[in-house]
Amino acid sequence: MIKDIRGLHHVTSMASDARQNNRFFTDTLGLRRVKQTVNLDDPSVYHLYYGNENGSAGTVMTYFPFPNMMLGRPGVGEVGETQFSVPKGSLKFWQDRFTAQGVGGLETDTAFGANRLCFMGPDGDGLALIESADDNRAPWLADGIPDDAAIRGFAGARFSLHDTAATEELLGFMGYQRAEKEGDVTRFIIPNGNGADTIDLAALPKTPFARQGAGSVHHIAFAVDNREKQLEVRKALMDTGYQVTPVIDRDYFWAIYFRTPGGILFEVATNEPGFNRDEDTAHLGETLKLPGRYEAFRDQIQANLEPLAA
Ligand code: ZN
Repeated sequence: MIKDIRGLHHVTSMASDARQNNRFFTDTLGLRRVKQTVNLDDPSVYHLYYGNENGSAGTVMTYFPFPNMMLGRPGVGEVGETQFSVPKGSLKFWQDRFTAQGVGGLETDTAFGANRLCFMGPDGDGLALIESADDNRAPWLADGIPDDAAIRGFAGARFSLHDTAATEELLGFMGYQRAEKEGDVTRFIIPNGNGADTIDLAALPKTPFARQGAGSVHHIAFAVDNREKQLEVRKALMDTGYQVTPVIDRDYFWAIYFRTPGGILFEVATNEPGFNRDEDTAHLGETLKLPGRYEAFRDQIQANLEPLAA
C-alpha cells in the first residue's frame, strides 16, 4: 500500500474565457493568482493557477481557458464537485456575496456534519464551500473578504461515478481510509494530509457519462513530498497494473498521470520545487511566465493571449 500521498495537490479544469475565469477566482472567491503561464502542449492557451499565498499543495485550482470552448455536460466519470474549506459561520457572508454578484447554482445543504454552500463557476463548474472549525491553514486575504471568511484551500472533492467499487479499492491502495457513508456518498480520508484530505464517492448508476468541456474538471492531482516518493508511488501503481506516464516536468512540480477505472484522470504531483521557482513570492502570478523553449516566441505568444485585466 502507498503511504506517501498527502491529500490533494491541485485540481485542473477547463474554461471558456480567461478574463472571466480570472475575475471569478481572484475577485469573487478571493484566491491569489500564483502563476500565469501557458499550456505546455499548446502555448496559445493560458494555464492559470489560483491558490493561497505560496500556492501550497492542497490549495491550487488551475484552469486552461480555451477561448469559446463549448460547455461540458456534467455526468459520471468525472470530478463532479470541487470543495473549498471556509471557517465555521462564514457561509452567510458568502451567500450574500454570491447573491450580490449573480453567482449561479446557489444551494445550501449539510453533509457529513458540515454546512455547505454549493455554487457554480462561470462555466457551470461544480463548486462548494464547506465550513470547517479546525482548518488552520493561513488564507490569502483579498479585498472585501475578511479573514474569518476567506478560503483556506481545498477541503476535498466529490467524484461522480457509475460504480464506486474499483475507485474505492484504488483510494484504499493510495492510503485513503474509508469513513462514513451518507446516502449514495461514501467518504474517504487521507491520514496525515495537508488539509485537502477528503474524497467523496457518489454512486450514480443511472446518470449518463459526462461530456468534457468548459466547466469540467480535466484531472485531479494528489500530493507527494518529493520526486523520490513520487517514483515509489509510480512503481507501486505500475506493479498493481496501472498504466502510468513517465515523470513529466511541469516547471513548478513533477507529474505522473494515470487513468482510473471510474474514468477520472489522476495525477500525482510533487510539492517541490513550487511556484516561487521563477519569481518572488511577493510578485507571484503578476507576469506571464513561459517555459524555456517558448521564451524565444514570447511576443507572438503574448499577442495571442487575451489580457487578463480589462
Ligand atoms: Zn495537473
